[in-house]
Amino acid sequence: MVKVECLACKSNHVTSTDTIVSEFIAEKVFDVTKEFIPVNLYHCEECGFSFYSKRFTDEETAKLYLGYRLKEYQKMRQKYDSWYTPEINEALSNDDAGLMNRRALIGRICHNYLHGRINRALDYGGDTGSIYPAGLDIDKQCVFDISRVETVAGVIRMDSYEAAQELDFDLIMCNHVLEHVNDLDDFIGLVKGLGNENTLFYFEVPFDSPYYGKFIDNFQFLFNPYFSLKVIFERFLKMKRLGFFAPMVEHVNYFSPYALEKLLSRNGLTILDLQINRVDYGWAKNKCISSVCRLA
Ligand SMILES: [Zn+2]
Repeated sequence: MVKVECLACKSNHVTSTDTIVSEFIAEKVFDVTKEFIPVNLYHCEECGFSFYSKRFTDEETAKLYLGYRLKEYQKMRQKYDSWYTPEINEALSNDDAGLMNRRALIGRICHNYLHGRINRALDYGGDTGSIYPAGLDIDKQCVFDISRVETVAGVIRMDSYEAAQELDFDLIMCNHVLEHVNDLDDFIGLVKGLGNENTLFYFEVPFDSPYYGKFIDNFQFLFNPYFSLKVIFERFLKMKRLGFFAPMVEHVNYFSPYALEKLLSRNGLTILDLQINRVDYGWAKNKCISSVCRLA
């Protein structure tokens, strides 16, 4: 056990594993190419939450998603993750079938709690706002996101947090954002700050863990065709010293259903529903955890 508090449930029963920041993230976000960046992977024995000691600032997050999945991004990533081919990148970028399945899931779950016309909804961290669910009759669809990208047709972009605060929302969604968030309590406070006693909150995160991967995944670099034998050997020695179990990638938080429940309820939300679903993203079938809440 280490003297670290679980970010989800605040328990002190946390174990630590030495590892590194993935080499792709090290170059893309931290401009580090010659050295490895050591990091701790923490795991809470009480709620099953896993998280890394290193967190991304807003600036670093913006850097990570700059040119996301464009040609340069793909090339830089394939240097280190040889499986990340142009074909895989293309499939990940064109996941219309996955988008439809995700919309249907959110629509199905929220429909149980929202009846009739919904005046206004907000997708917090929703990028272009393309995930708005099917089957819900929403008058005004809004999105608030630091990326400030153009929204899809019919979705209104909030220019600032303050502008969103001026409005009342019947539904606030937050899909696949919490796994990236630096300060979880602070972030949930911001999401809550845009709702009121009538607002329904919907949170969705991947149901994934660094511990679910195959052990052999940690040794992918041994088979990287872009590395010479000398490079592979040097890496092996360095990583043996620093630990190379589950290098840190884009996600800094990994939730169990219980961890999500603890995090949300500890932050003043009453859980109405918590579900695990398997979603076909088009390029893969993955599980996600969905939670429907209201202000406590
Ligand atoms: Zn915990």
